[in-house]
Amino acid sequence: MCQRRAAGTLWLKCGHFQRHMITAIYDCMSVNCEHSYIHPKHCQSRACISMYGPDVQDVIDRVEDRCLQCQWQEQKALQDQQKAAQAQEKS
Ligand SMILES: [Zn+2]
Ligand SMILES: [Zn+2]
Ligand SMILES: [Zn+2]
Repeated sequence: MCQRRAAGTLWLKCGHFQRHMITAIYDCMSVNCEHSYIHPKHCQSRACISMYGPDVQDVIDRVEDRCLQCQWQEQKALQDQQKAAQAQEKS
C-alpha cells in the first residue's frame, strides 16, 4: 500500500506526532492499490486496497510539552472528576 510523507510537530511529553500537511506520496506501484499510479482508473474491484500505510513522519519541530489533544483530554478528565466529586457531596 502507498504511504504518505507528513510534515508535523513532535510533542515530546506524550510522543504524539501532529500532522500539518502531506508533503509527498510514495507510490507502491501495485495494481491492487487504489492510490497507485498504475491502478486501473475504473476498477470496480472491492478487494483493492483503499487505505494508506502508516505515514512517514517528517518532524519539522519538537515541543517539550503534551499535544493539544492530550491537554484537552486531561482537562476534561479533571472536570469529570470534579463533577463526580460535587455530585457525591450533594447526596
Ligand atoms: Zn499503494
Ligand atoms: Zn482496483
Ligand atoms: Zn498527545
